[in-house]
Amino acid sequence: MQKADIVEHHSHAVLRTISTSLPFPSVIKLHRYISLRHTSIELSRKNLLRRDGNKCQYCSNSAPPLTIDHVIPKSRGGLDTWDNLVCACVKCNNKKGNRTPKEAGMNLLTIPKKPHYIVYLKSLHSVVETLWRPYLFMD
Ligand SMILES: [Zn+2]
Repeated sequence: MQKADIVEHHSHAVLRTISTSLPFPSVIKLHRYISLRHTSIELSRKNLLRRDGNKCQYCSNSAPPLTIDHVIPKSRGGLDTWDNLVCACVKCNNKKGNRTPKEAGMNLLTIPKKPHYIVYLKSLHSVVETLWRPYLFMD
């Protein structure tokens, strides 16, 4: 029984068996949906910096050392969550101190949120195969 179709294949490679040869698959379409359970992205300093492109979310400075800022300060009930943590340079983090961005008169460049799994996958691969690009929403 056929379980998958080849959607894209490498033009220069072939898969050979004893009796047949097939194009070497690059993108396949499964006939049945397979649920991916382990798709939650770990909330870590590394992943926060990756989400924010290693840029301060207040001034876009990318010079290290970069810190993690609680948008709503921890001392005021701010949680360790994707939507309350942003990458910040030392200067901005010190300037903001124990205040909200509004109180400090500092605007966030982007609204922080949990990255989509596909965005995360893209960030893991510095070079993505050309054939995969349309399927990772990169074109
Ligand atoms: Zn900054």
